[in-house]
Amino acid sequence: MDFELTEELKMLKDMAYKFAKTEFPAVSHECDTAEKYLHDLRKKAAANGLIGAWIPEQYGGAGAGILGNAIITEELSKVDMGLGLNIVAATFGGETIFQYGSEEQKKTYLPPLCAGEKVCAGAYTEPNAGTDVAGYKTRAVKEGNDYVINGNKMFITNGTVCDFMVAQCITNPQEKKHNSFSLIIVPADTPGITKNKIHGKMGIRASDTAEIAFEDVRVPQANLVGKEGHGFQQLMHFFDTTRVMVAAQALGLSEACLETSIKYVKERTVFGAPLGSFQITQMKLTEMAIRIEALRGLVYRAACLIDQGRPDYTLAAMGKFFGGQTAVFCANYAVEIHGGYGYIDEYDVQKWYRDAKILELYEGTKEAEIMTIGRVLQTR
Ligand SMILES: Cc1cc2nc3c(=O)[nH]c(=O)nc-3n(C[C@H](O)[C@H](O)[C@H](O)COP(=O)(O)OP(=O)(O)OC[C@H]3O[C@@H](n4cnc5c(N)ncnc54)[C@H](O)[C@@H]3O)c2cc1C
Repeated sequence: MDFELTEELKMLKDMAYKFAKTEFPAVSHECDTAEKYLHDLRKKAAANGLIGAWIPEQYGGAGAGILGNAIITEELSKVDMGLGLNIVAATFGGETIFQYGSEEQKKTYLPPLCAGEKVCAGAYTEPNAGTDVAGYKTRAVKEGNDYVINGNKMFITNGTVCDFMVAQCITNPQEKKHNSFSLIIVPADTPGITKNKIHGKMGIRASDTAEIAFEDVRVPQANLVGKEGHGFQQLMHFFDTTRVMVAAQALGLSEACLETSIKYVKERTVFGAPLGSFQITQMKLTEMAIRIEALRGLVYRAACLIDQGRPDYTLAAMGKFFGGQTAVFCANYAVEIHGGYGYIDEYDVQKWYRDAKILELYEGTKEAEIMTIGRVLQTR
């Protein structure tokens, strides 16, 4: 057993961090306050091989696997999780094309994502159903060679900036709920699509989030991803992979909270002594550090197992659950350690505190992870 990263992964880690440190700080505050999505930054990241690193080289990616992608996600999230999301989630939804799509779909849709030319979105959640994936209502009806789609999607990352999305739709209503869904590729400029950017998010405000309405949206049946009626199962597997990335976001943000706090407690004097010399402070730093080490173990191991073709989806759910908790925990302590300054937007920790909460919500709330883990534990 060897816990060391390979030289290649260490280089990737350094490169991703340097990219974020060089590119993010100058735009971070503005993108957060003005809710600004930067296409140029995403393109620059693509030029540095940071987009779609999990995608094999034959489809334009870096072939760095899920572990490589998790490491990139971690490093970008150390500097700004919202800006980092715009980079790592530019391929969001593309995972299902890679896993279940035809060779033609993979060749058509994946390379432009990696090159930074296009952006994907995964359109699953609906206004009245998020956690209850089987409760989605968007309908795709066959007409001639097309599907005609009607319905509404909610909270879609990249919703107004994407070029295409992979949407979960009911295609087989006559089947039992879980066998009634299919994933369909929908070009974002298809007539009948309305996109509304959602403003006023608590955190990750640099990322684009939108509600999307489909009104008689017509796409070729050739845009079906994989087999009709398999959409629910495909989506469950998709989340099993992408949850590792959310856990990696949590890892990066938590590390940033700890590093910044350590720096601060050395500089700040209270009662005539450095803040870090007091045991209560040391306890906070220690609790953060222990959680971060445990989280790193979960993230890297879950990612490695996927790369080795031996995925452990419960481990991925554990990583996502523990990641969200760790990030919220570390961000909270980081704000506390910074005292009143931690509450002011001149200091990054207040932003990280706001950003952290989404990690307990999207791609399965922490309650949804508990349901997944709790169910599996009883079948082992
Ligand atoms: C910024 C942002 C970006 C997002 N990006 C995307 C995206 O790109 N694509 C996409 O499809 N979706 C996206 N989402 C949606 C996100 O995944 C959902 O919001 C999330 O899954 C929860 O669904 P919901 O909001 O409908 O909450 P609900 O499902 O209504 O849940 C409300 C509360 O009830 C709890 N709950 C639900 N069921 C149970 C139960 N059985 N027992 C106990 N408690 C339960 C939940 O955990 C939650 O606490 C995004 C959301 C946000 C905020």
